[in-house]
Amino acid sequence: MSNQLPVAVAIDIGGTKIAGALVDSDGNVVASKKEFPSWSAPTPKTGGTDVANTVASIAALVKEKALEMGRTPIGCGIGSAGVIDPSGRFIRSATEAIPGWTGTQLAQIVEAATEMPTIIENDVHAHARGEAWLGAGAGHKTVLMVAVGTGIGGAFTINGEIVRGATGLAGHVGHIVTPYGRGHECSCGVDGHLEAIAAGPTMVRWANQRGATVADGIDLERQAETGNQIALEVLTDAATATGEIIAGLVNCLDPEIVILGGGMAAAGEVYWKPLRAAYEAQLMPALKEVPLVAASLGGAAPQAGAAALAFATFQA
Ligand SMILES: [Zn+2]
Repeated sequence: MSNQLPVAVAIDIGGTKIAGALVDSDGNVVASKKEFPSWSAPTPKTGGTDVANTVASIAALVKEKALEMGRTPIGCGIGSAGVIDPSGRFIRSATEAIPGWTGTQLAQIVEAATEMPTIIENDVHAHARGEAWLGAGAGHKTVLMVAVGTGIGGAFTINGEIVRGATGLAGHVGHIVTPYGRGHECSCGVDGHLEAIAAGPTMVRWANQRGATVADGIDLERQAETGNQIALEVLTDAATATGEIIAGLVNCLDPEIVILGGGMAAAGEVYWKPLRAAYEAQLMPALKEVPLVAASLGGAAPQAGAAALAFATFQA
C-alpha cells in the first residue's frame, strides 16, 4: 500500500515563487499546494534571510501536515538557484536574481525550524534528477539533460546521481564557446558562450540587434514561423549552436538519452528541426542512435528531483 511508503518534503525555490510538496518514495505527490495553498509563496524580493525563512516555514507546514496524516518525513530536499556547495548545506554563490543568497546556510536554517535533516541541490540539477527518476529519462542509467530557458544549464546523471563536480559547478552547458556567439558577452563576462545567443532573452536581444522587433521568446518563434527572415535566422542559428554543443557533449559523455528541458523544449519544429539537424550532423557515427527528446515532467521536475535527493540522502 502506498500509505506505507516513506515520504519526503520537497521544496522548489524559483525566481518568482517557492513551493513545497509531500512526495512518497515512488514519486507520488501525496499532498501539494493544490490542496494547501499556504505551501506556496512568492520569493521575497528582499532575498537572503527572508527567502530562507520562507522556505523554512513552508517546510514546517508540510511536515506538520505529514505528521497529522501519520507519516513522518524522512527529511527535506530542496532545489535552489545558485551554485550549491557539494556538501548540500549552503549556497556557495548566486547571482542577484536572489539578492544576498550567496553564503546562506539554508540547510541549517530549515533544520532549526523543522527538526528534519535537510539537503540542497542546484535547481537545474534537481530538474535533471526529477526527469531521470520519473520523466523522459526513467529507466535509463546515464542521462544528459540540457535546459534552455532564461539561461542554459544542464546535468549529467549516472544511476540517478548527479555529477556535481569538485565545487558543485558541473553542468554549465551555456558556458561553452560557439562560433555563433563571438562578439556577444555572456552573463559570466566571457565572450562567445552559448548562453550569450541561445537562451530565451539573449535570442530576443540578438534578433533585435539584427534589426527585428521582437518582444519575447514566444513572439520570436511566432515571427519565425510566419516568415520574418531575421527571426527565422536567429532561431535557426541559436538552435544550430545548441544542437552542435549537445552533440559534442554526447560524443564526450556517451549517455543513453539526451533530454531537452526548459522553456524551449515546448518550442515548435521551427526550433526543433535545426536543433536536431545540427545534433545529428555532429554526432560521431557510433553514437547516431542516442535519442534527443523533450522533457516530460514540465514544472513538476525540480520538485520530483528535490524529493529524489532527500530519498537518496536520508533513506536507510
Ligand atoms: Zn558564460
